[in-house]
Amino acid sequence: MKKILWFRRDLRVHDSMLLATEGEVLPIFIFDTNILNSLEKNDKRVSFIFEQVLKLKTDLKAMGLDLALFYGTPLEVFTYLKTLEFSEVYASVDYDSYAKERDAKIAEMLSFHALNDCYLFEPNEVLKKDGSPYLVFTPYYRACQALYTQFYALEYARAQQSLTNFDYNALWSIQDGAKTALHVKLESMGFEPLHVNVLEPQKALEIFTCKVDSYAEKRDFLDEDATSHLSVHLRFGTLSIREIVRFLVNLKKQSHVTEPFFRQLIFREFYAYLLYHFPKLEWENYKYSPPVSKDEDAYERFIKAETGYPLIDAAVMELLTTGLMHNRARMVVGSFFTKHLMLPWQKGEVFFAKYLLDYDASANILSWQWCAGTGIDPQPYFRIFNPYAQSLKFDKEARYIKRYLPILSDVPASSLHKEVYLMSHDIAGYPKPLIGHESARKRFLSEFARAH
Ligand SMILES: Cc1cc2nc3c(=O)[nH]c(=O)nc-3n(C[C@H](O)[C@H](O)[C@H](O)COP(=O)(O)OP(=O)(O)OC[C@H]3O[C@@H](n4cnc5c(N)ncnc54)[C@H](O)[C@@H]3O)c2cc1C
Repeated sequence: MKKILWFRRDLRVHDSMLLATEGEVLPIFIFDTNILNSLEKNDKRVSFIFEQVLKLKTDLKAMGLDLALFYGTPLEVFTYLKTLEFSEVYASVDYDSYAKERDAKIAEMLSFHALNDCYLFEPNEVLKKDGSPYLVFTPYYRACQALYTQFYALEYARAQQSLTNFDYNALWSIQDGAKTALHVKLESMGFEPLHVNVLEPQKALEIFTCKVDSYAEKRDFLDEDATSHLSVHLRFGTLSIREIVRFLVNLKKQSHVTEPFFRQLIFREFYAYLLYHFPKLEWENYKYSPPVSKDEDAYERFIKAETGYPLIDAAVMELLTTGLMHNRARMVVGSFFTKHLMLPWQKGEVFFAKYLLDYDASANILSWQWCAGTGIDPQPYFRIFNPYAQSLKFDKEARYIKRYLPILSDVPASSLHKEVYLMSHDIAGYPKPLIGHESARKRFLSEFARAH
C-alpha cells in the first residue's frame, strides 16, 4: 500500500517518525494557500520554511528518497493524490483549530495516521487520577517527570522505504483539479526571498552547552544571550524534541544543571496539551474576563513602537526587525498590552503571530492568556509588571533598549527607567509615555474588580 509522508512541523531527516514508516512512500510538502494567502509577500517565515524544505529535499535525495512539492490547499492536493491511488497519509500532530479541521477533512478521504513527533508526551498520557487533564503547570510537570523514561527520548531509526514514482522536479500548483508545473522558487508563489538569520540547530545546541549551567540565573536578562534559540527549530521540527532531551541527558551525566531548561520544554508541552484538551482557549478566556478597551490610538502607537515606554518600544522593535522577542520582553509587553492599555489579548496574539518566526499557536495563545491574567496558572490577574522596574532589573545599562531604539542612545540609562524623567523631558523624535504606570495599574484593577 502506497503511503504519503506529509512533512509539516518535522522538516528533518534525522530522528523522524515519518522516515521510520515502512513501505512504498511519497514524501510531500504542501505550500498551503489557505495560510499563504493571508501573509504579506515579504513574510520572513515563508523564506525560512522554503529554505528548510529545499534542504529537506536535498537530504532526502541523499537517502535515495525525494520530496514532492505542492502549492494549493491540502484538500485539493489530497483530492488529486487520491486519484493516484494513495490510501494512507502519515503526518505529525498539530492542535490548533485550523490544523484540526484540515486533518479531519483529510481523514475523511484517506486513512490518516497522526504521529506524536513534535512533543514528548501524548495529550492523553498525562492525566490526573480521575482521568481529567491537569490545569496547573506544577502538578503537570511532576506527572511528566514521573512518567518520563528514556523510552520517550529514543531515536527513531530509518525504516525500509522505497520511493513512489512521481515527477519530483517541479513545484506542482493544484487548483480546481488541474495540475500545473511551476519553477521551484519562492517567486513562483509570489513571495520575496529574504535572508533569515537563524542559527543552525547543531550550532545552537553546541553554543548552549556553555550556557546551560547559568540558564536559570541569566535567562531573564535582556542583554544576556543566555537562552538556547531553539524555538524556531522546535516550531518547524528542524530539530527533534527527543534529540534535545538526549542532549540534556548527556549534559546531566557530565554534572551540568539541566532541570531549569527541561522545565521550559515541558511548558511548551503543557501549552500544546491545554490547547488540545480545551480548544476553545484559542479565542475564549480561560477563567476570568479582563476588562478591555477599544482604544485604537493606543493600539496604533503600540504597533509603531511609540508608547513612550522604552522597554515596550524596544521589544516591539526587536520583533519587527528580527522576528523574535526576548522571553522576558514578551512577558512585560503582554502585560502592558492587556493591563496598561487594556487591549484584548487576542489582538496582541494576532500581532505577535504576524511577526514571530517561532510563532506557535499553543505557546503564543496560552502565553497571552497568562499575561492577560485570565487565570492560566500561575499568573494572578493582579500581577501587573511595572515596565520601568523590569528594565531597571533586567536591562540596567539599557543596552537592549538602546540597541533597538538607537534614538535613545544619548539618554542616560538610569533616566530610561524613570517615568518622571520621561514624562518631564522632551527627547527628540521619541514620544512621552502614553499613560502613567500608576494610573494605568489602578484603572485596570478597578475595572477588573467591577467586572468580577
Ligand atoms: C506573550 C508570549 C508569547 C509567546 N509566543 C511564543 C510563540 O509563539 N512560540 C514559542 O515558541 N514561544 C513563545 N513564547 C515563549 C518564549 O518566549 C519563547 O519560546 C522563547 O523566548 C524562545 O527563545 P529560546 O528558544 O531561546 O528559549 P529558551 O529559553 O531557550 O527555551 C527553550 C524552549 O522552551 C520553550 N519555551 C520556553 N519558554 C516557554 C514558554 N513560556 N511557553 C512555551 N514554551 C516555552 C520554547 O520551545 C523554547 O525554544 C511566548 C511567550 C510569551 C510571554
